[in-house]
Amino acid sequence: MKKKIAYFYDQEVGNFYYGQGHPMKPHRMRMTHNLLLHYDLYKDMEVFQPTPAQADDMTQFHSDEYIEFLRLVTPDNQHEHMRQLKRFNVAEDCPVFDGLFRFCQLYTGGSVGGAVRLNHGLSETVINWSGGLHHAKKSEASGFCYVNDIVLAILELLKQHQRVLYIDIDIHHGDGVEEAFYTTDRVMTVSFHKFGEYFPGTGHLQDIGQHAGKYYSVNVPLKDGIDDESYELLYKPLMSKVMEIYQPDAVVFQSGADSLSGDRLGCFNLSIKGHAECLKYMTTFNVPLLVLGGGGYTIRNVARCWAYETGCLLDRELVDAMPQNDYSEYFGPTHTLHIQPSNMENQNTREYLEGVRAHLLENLSKMTCKPSVPFHEVPRDSTNTRNVSVDVEHISEKSEKGFSASLDKSQYENERHVAALRRQQSMVVRDDIPSSTISIMENTPSSEKSHDLPISATGLPQTHTPRSDEATAMTMFPSVSNKKEGI
Ligand SMILES: [Zn+2]
Repeated sequence: MKKKIAYFYDQEVGNFYYGQGHPMKPHRMRMTHNLLLHYDLYKDMEVFQPTPAQADDMTQFHSDEYIEFLRLVTPDNQHEHMRQLKRFNVAEDCPVFDGLFRFCQLYTGGSVGGAVRLNHGLSETVINWSGGLHHAKKSEASGFCYVNDIVLAILELLKQHQRVLYIDIDIHHGDGVEEAFYTTDRVMTVSFHKFGEYFPGTGHLQDIGQHAGKYYSVNVPLKDGIDDESYELLYKPLMSKVMEIYQPDAVVFQSGADSLSGDRLGCFNLSIKGHAECLKYMTTFNVPLLVLGGGGYTIRNVARCWAYETGCLLDRELVDAMPQNDYSEYFGPTHTLHIQPSNMENQNTREYLEGVRAHLLENLSKMTCKPSVPFHEVPRDSTNTRNVSVDVEHISEKSEKGFSASLDKSQYENERHVAALRRQQSMVVRDDIPSSTISIMENTPSSEKSHDLPISATGLPQTHTPRSDEATAMTMFPSVSNKKEGI
């Protein structure tokens, strides 16, 4: 039987612009969306426009001061907030740009809205390619991320699920998510990432979590040039063991595409099929699944990858010859969906990989039973979570946006979406046109994390530790200001 799949997308998201020369381009979400429309994938899933997350939703994790700052700061008034810009690390990698808070509202709304659908059994798989901003901290932007939609979505899932597994295949360590859940066993985080002189600098093999969370943080440090075969050698045995032992009720999958071969900021050598295999593998366990985007800086390949992975989730084979689409010129000269890995050296030797695998399997074997917590009272849904389906019926009347929303989710009919989606296809916006509770540990190196954490009503630790200078010392991409780093 086919799974019920929901897809969150807001056409506004592609308009946001981090600034000239900045490698993070929200336009890639529009390219992805357009490509998957032309592969006719929308017919097999429910398409939702996210309800924007509100400040109250965001402060379930983030500090009030930080969110208030994000809400108010603009390119025009930022010079009046120099102290806060520094305090919240909003500069360079994480610049102030037009519509910054709105951008956060949209990508967060998709992830949290997706979590609510999973909580209520309305969908079995939810996709939000705009989400996955895994570096954001409680009171600090980091690595192109401002609001951590992943932490917020996991907090939402914990209202209905005992154990949530987070998997991160972005090339960068999923530090913001790991840190948030470092001391709890209700969330297990597993991050595969480049380690060694690379942003954000965390994610050591020996960082395994603390207190109740000991062994519930898993870090898989990798070296340059890893290929599909090497990746799979670690990924499948580890994830198989994690699923067997931890038995999560829900899985959140961060599918950062900067681990692909040829990424502008990355140094791995995965093909799209190799990348997608990680996601496909998780679908075989039949657990509610929230699939998010993340990094990815060679944007033609990001769109290829996420369109292909959408197809995988829908059990649809996509032909390699790409259909005509609004961004066809990006995909030349091959106009094929798949990419060829390069001949770069794979620095991950067989011995290295087997050593890492053995070490991590040994750690996993120390977790003897799956933890559970009693639910005394199921918390209320997040306030933003009215799932807004795309309602095609009103499109002709409200044609301004070419895409209107209805709260009547029960009336959803695929056929009625076609006209709206066709309208979207015709919109061409280029990225070179700028448009206008749980813990929460901040940037503390894992080895120094606090030892006496107060436990919240949800059984999850709450903490507030001073921020280290680590995040500011290392940035995500090389630029005029030396180097920067992002998701
Ligand atoms: Zn990344």
